[in-house]
Amino acid sequence: MFRFKQRGAIQYLEAEGISALDLVTHAFCTRLGGVSEGHFSSLNTGFRVADREENVRRNLSLIADSFSIPASRLVLMDQVHGDRVCILDGDGPSSGSFPACDGLITDRPGVAIGIKTADCVPLLFVDPVRRVIGVAHAGWRGTALRIATRVIDLFEQRYASRAENIVIAVGPAIGVCCYQVDTPVYAAFSARPGADRFLHPCRENGRWMLDLALANRIALIERGAPAGNIFSDGHCTACRSDLFFSHRESLGMTGRQLNFIMIKDGCR
Ligand SMILES: [Zn+2]
Repeated sequence: MFRFKQRGAIQYLEAEGISALDLVTHAFCTRLGGVSEGHFSSLNTGFRVADREENVRRNLSLIADSFSIPASRLVLMDQVHGDRVCILDGDGPSSGSFPACDGLITDRPGVAIGIKTADCVPLLFVDPVRRVIGVAHAGWRGTALRIATRVIDLFEQRYASRAENIVIAVGPAIGVCCYQVDTPVYAAFSARPGADRFLHPCRENGRWMLDLALANRIALIERGAPAGNIFSDGHCTACRSDLFFSHRESLGMTGRQLNFIMIKDGCR
């Protein structure tokens, strides 16, 4: 179950299955509560859109202040629609650098790791036993590359996690109602187990409707994550462009919402 909450001016969704662990602060931010205007109204966190940089910086600091993220401890990525996952440890990337990857993992308390989205699937991971967190950005390319399972691979390899302990929240993304795809995307998924569950032919010839969130869920379950540990939000970013930035619905002229997770200071 996901619930809307508010801190300061920021309205966001929280996954109860993650909150119940009492280990992390996390949020799937909406587009509401920021200072950007027009297409980027109002909590845009994307620098690579035509928004004013000062507004993006202001929005990021509004989020950091609202969630008590220590100054310059919000680590984001240069998201490239790949399957590379970076580890944030003593030698890893720090805030201010933007590693070119689509997943981040850390066990450092007080460091927020985030993903920016506008239709792509944001995934947050927590292993409450080994006290490790992760994020992944899964558009169709990342989903086809199974980036979500790469996060579990690295949890196991680097932190001795067990897949059965990992709790995962799948945030708001474009829904199967609105995500029409063409042949190259269909071809990337059609041979996958369970493809008939997340890929449906539509009335238009040569087009399909893709359920990205479900494709990620199925891949995670195949990789060993218990279905009962995966919490999915049902909001479609395109249907609810009043609440969320949607690349598809806006024909590309829109902002990016922030989704983040942070181990609470003292939880170590
Ligand atoms: Zn929709």
